[in-house]
Amino acid sequence: MLNPTHDPARRSWVESANRPEAAFPIQNLPYGVFSVGDGSRRVGVAIGEMILDLAVLEEAGLLPPAAGPRVFDQPDINAFMARGPQAWQAMRARIAGLLDAAGSPLRDDPALRGRAMVPQHAARMHLPIAVRGFTDFYASKDHATNVGSLFRDPKNALTANWLHIPIGYNGRASSVVVSGTDIRRPLGQIKPPEAEAPVLAACRRLDFELEIGAIVGVPSAMGTPVTTAQAYDMIFGYVLLNDWSARDIQQWEYVPLGPFQSKAFATTISPWVVTSEALEPFRVGTPPRVTPLLPYLAEATPNNFDIRLEVAMRPTGVAEETAISHTNFRHMYYSAAQQLTHHAIGGCPMNVGDLLGSGTISGPTPDSLGSLLEMTRNGAQPLTLHGGGRRGFIEDGDEIIMRGWCEGAGYRIGFGEARGRILPAPRG
Ligand code: MN
Repeated sequence: MLNPTHDPARRSWVESANRPEAAFPIQNLPYGVFSVGDGSRRVGVAIGEMILDLAVLEEAGLLPPAAGPRVFDQPDINAFMARGPQAWQAMRARIAGLLDAAGSPLRDDPALRGRAMVPQHAARMHLPIAVRGFTDFYASKDHATNVGSLFRDPKNALTANWLHIPIGYNGRASSVVVSGTDIRRPLGQIKPPEAEAPVLAACRRLDFELEIGAIVGVPSAMGTPVTTAQAYDMIFGYVLLNDWSARDIQQWEYVPLGPFQSKAFATTISPWVVTSEALEPFRVGTPPRVTPLLPYLAEATPNNFDIRLEVAMRPTGVAEETAISHTNFRHMYYSAAQQLTHHAIGGCPMNVGDLLGSGTISGPTPDSLGSLLEMTRNGAQPLTLHGGGRRGFIEDGDEIIMRGWCEGAGYRIGFGEARGRILPAPRG
């Protein structure tokens, strides 16, 4: 439901938050974890080009009172998420009030302001959540159709289950890293089509997958299904997510249990968690159903979001990025709420800090694809980058940058960036 925190006319006394192209206006208020110098990790909210240090405000007694230990003098936001949706809503309203251009105890106290406001360029960002579990889905019909056409049969590109089940696999929480972390090219078993036996080698077909990650903030009990409406409310917020993928390793290993090492080596997420509440004005429905879903997956409300997404690539030594994709999260056939409902239907308990990858986000047009696999037709049609490089897949030193934002009336709800650079493989 919309409330005064969504008012497009609202402005902050933090001037950099009021520019029309600012990623973090007062309507956004995403949560992240940062440190300055040798200081400890703490929770903050992005506002314009600054970070509001919530640990300082908590200590000063300016935040809504809550029972229990402090939640912002912490290395992750899990303890805050565990307080639940009413506390999230009260906190957002309070923070918006403290940052409002109309004035507040924070704006009018220079000493407190000096301690609580940190320039983003002076801070180091960390993984915002303690990731309890990571599940990756496969929810874009265009992506699933493109991949099915490449590797199976263009006439029967979607597998028989796809229009009925949000397909997913359980990935690794241990290798989820924050934007800016270098990623080492994985080693793995690869069997070239002409070879009789596999070899252990560095991945030669390294790819990215443009995704959105949903972060679970309300747990569910083991053996207890949840409805799609409950699932929507269980999601605290969303991040950009790059599900790095080793296509050659994947092709050999995925039969019959799905991806394993080809996905386990790294997943990059953006540092700022954009809350479900901030995304409320940008809710849209999923595309029309090709086949009716089973009733447990039906949705009475629009649970997708209109989020514009971009991918850029930059080889080492080249200053200019090349934009290689423009797409939108609204194309996804299954919402995160449907995925979460499906995840819990068998009785799997969901935890505070679980991360659900949406699946590669591809749109219907050639310039809106979410992986190199699709863009280059499995390497057969290389891209040309600024600086002259040609790429079928990712080479060592290449950087992949993902960006996203919702376009509001005179403001943006920005996700910031998820970037990662590829380092050479370890010696096998
Ligand atoms: Mn994926």
